[in-house]
Amino acid sequence: MLALRKTKPAPGLEFADLPEPSPQPGEVLVRVEAAGICGTDVHIDEWTAGYESMTGNMPVTIGHEFAGRVVAFGEGAIGVAEGQRVTVRPSTVCGRCAACAGGNPDGCTARRGIGIGRDGAFTSLVRVPSLNCVAVPEGLDAELAAMTEPLSVSMHAADLADIRPGQRVLVLGPGPIGLGIAAFAASAGAEVVLAGVSDAPRLATAREVGGFHCIDLAGTSLPEALASIGQGQAFDAVIEAAGVAAAVETGLKQLRKGGRFVVAGIHARPAPIDLTSLVRMEQTIHGAYRAPISDWPRVIAFLTRNAEMMRRMITHRLPLAEAMEGFALSRRRQASKVILLP
Ligand SMILES: [Zn+2]
Ligand SMILES: [Zn+2]
Repeated sequence: MLALRKTKPAPGLEFADLPEPSPQPGEVLVRVEAAGICGTDVHIDEWTAGYESMTGNMPVTIGHEFAGRVVAFGEGAIGVAEGQRVTVRPSTVCGRCAACAGGNPDGCTARRGIGIGRDGAFTSLVRVPSLNCVAVPEGLDAELAAMTEPLSVSMHAADLADIRPGQRVLVLGPGPIGLGIAAFAASAGAEVVLAGVSDAPRLATAREVGGFHCIDLAGTSLPEALASIGQGQAFDAVIEAAGVAAAVETGLKQLRKGGRFVVAGIHARPAPIDLTSLVRMEQTIHGAYRAPISDWPRVIAFLTRNAEMMRRMITHRLPLAEAMEGFALSRRRQASKVILLP
């Protein structure tokens, strides 16, 4: 079977022809129907700093946002039926650390990511722990179900902003995570502004999803752009999903007294923060990373209810063999979500 792999700690990915895997005890085999390209996959291809821990697991098949069908069982695999369509939580837990032994797998200290630390989904068949499978209803197709993982990140960030109906929320960064945050915030009853910088194609996709204001800061400043659409007053919550230090600085200036700032972007560099202003304004900064297990069925229910709207996030569908074209589109920010079809 064709598989897209990281083979060495240097820029680039390679296709390989692999034998079909067999599920190990506690695992099932999933036939991949759709897999999304994530910003993480682009970083792994480019070999940007922060992924060195993958080196010991190479060669490894990448891809962690996916959906498919369970086709075989390892010994003792429980919790899922043969033929069931599933999406898979990519973070696998050890089952042995104090948190795992204490019944809190969300707190596991020895995680391995499917598609990072063990073989992932940019191929036809992937073996995964059965307990990482989340059932997907037949009415939800695979390409939408494959977006559950990134949207769980978005939902978690929106939850941490503690959004109430009627509040005003500013989201910085119009990539798939920011776009998902804007959609969840709008569905929570907030008035939402989604901002990007020189990000016209992804903002155009966001406008098609709809339900919130979209602004491009190319050639203008955030305060000017907000004033021009009548959104100049301070926001109840600001959520940063751009991974750019400047977004933290400029975003905090738009937050009201007592407001909440959620950081969901992955930052290559430290960001300067005016702490005296934060103190006087009694604001809160909250980091958002991995969603709890309980968010996954909530995202699947949201996707099922809003399938037509959320499908507009998918801008490109490509066969696996043309994956590198999808990587180029993602890297150039011309695509919102690229789905690979093995
Ligand atoms: Zn991802
Ligand atoms: Zn553990």
